[in-house]
Amino acid sequence: MNKKRIFLSEAHKGGREFFYIQEVFKDNWIASEGPNVIGFENDLQTYLGQNCFVGALNSGTAAIHLGLILLGVKADDEVICQTMTFSASANPIVYLGAKPIFVDSESATLNICPIALEKAIEDRIAQGKKPKAIIAVHLYGMPFKVDENYVIANNYDIPILEDSAEALGSSYKGQKCGTFGDLGVLSFNGNKIITTSGGGAIISKTKEIKDKAVFLATQARDNAPHYQHSEIGYNYRMSNICAGIGRGQMEVLDDHIVLRRKMHDFYVELFKSIAGVTVFAEPNENYFSNYWLSAIVIEHELTNGIDREVLRLAFEAENIESRPLWKPMHLQPVFESYPYYGGKVAETLFEKGLCLPSGSNLTDEDRGRISNVILKLFL
Ligand SMILES: *Cc1c(COP(=O)(O)O)cnc(C)c1O
Repeated sequence: MNKKRIFLSEAHKGGREFFYIQEVFKDNWIASEGPNVIGFENDLQTYLGQNCFVGALNSGTAAIHLGLILLGVKADDEVICQTMTFSASANPIVYLGAKPIFVDSESATLNICPIALEKAIEDRIAQGKKPKAIIAVHLYGMPFKVDENYVIANNYDIPILEDSAEALGSSYKGQKCGTFGDLGVLSFNGNKIITTSGGGAIISKTKEIKDKAVFLATQARDNAPHYQHSEIGYNYRMSNICAGIGRGQMEVLDDHIVLRRKMHDFYVELFKSIAGVTVFAEPNENYFSNYWLSAIVIEHELTNGIDREVLRLAFEAENIESRPLWKPMHLQPVFESYPYYGGKVAETLFEKGLCLPSGSNLTDEDRGRISNVILKLFL
């Protein structure tokens, strides 16, 4: 058996990426700045609306790091972070010498639970320190409970850094993810809904903040003929080559979202008649997910003992990739000593949940192989 591997999420070329790269080669803009960077930022600003300002960076992690700096996070500060996420959401807190405080999810969106969030804030204040920022994530493209979480954040006057790395093109009540908070973050890593091979962006409400982000991302050079520095800088800017890929990808972003959403519909249809398996879906019409990854939750008491690991291995035997949901940060060896607020929602989702192949480039033949595994196992 030498079947082609079906991946969870793969880069999917649009067609015009190379055109944009060739343009800059012709003009010798093979540099860390140039017309593609500006063009890509403009494309993103137009796409996101809300008069936002976008700074293109070399990763989503860099964007989170700079975002925390721009929110004034310093050593010994506390930063609240959704526990159910990729480690890149939380790592930059530690880069700064600050302390992550992890908070549970709720099961409707898989994202930060407003009740646990408020408890965490209250308790940290009671213990003598008000959290400096909140990192909330739109996991797998699903918007978090925007209204509920912002009411709490605003009540306590704590800014939200919106980790929209997985949610470019998702929206809540018609407004694009990444534009609700004081600052938002995007990723264009190879497995995201669009890619620049590696890259990210920071989204802000004012040009001043965007300019400050770009200043910090380009080594914090003061305005002088020599190299003059009064702040610590970083080498975090996106290159002009990568931005060329991004411009080509922006032309097909909405097509990719249509295809990802079709993959989600395919799973909804497939699991409709299988008891004990729920396809994770938009809670109501306020939520629009790009369905970057389709995810299911398996109640093995209702499936004759077939759990997520049995399904994962059945896929693997057919050379199909699937993956458990993100393992919560408060259960990770590197973070387990930090405070945690909430119950077992994220932990249970990790135990029972599985992400399924969701790429916009999957074919009918791929879908056939996927449904064969599922039908053979469950029916
Ligand atoms: C991918 C991702 C990041 C980090 O983005 P990179 O561009 O890979 O650095 C951050 N948060 C979440 C939730 C992600 O999925």
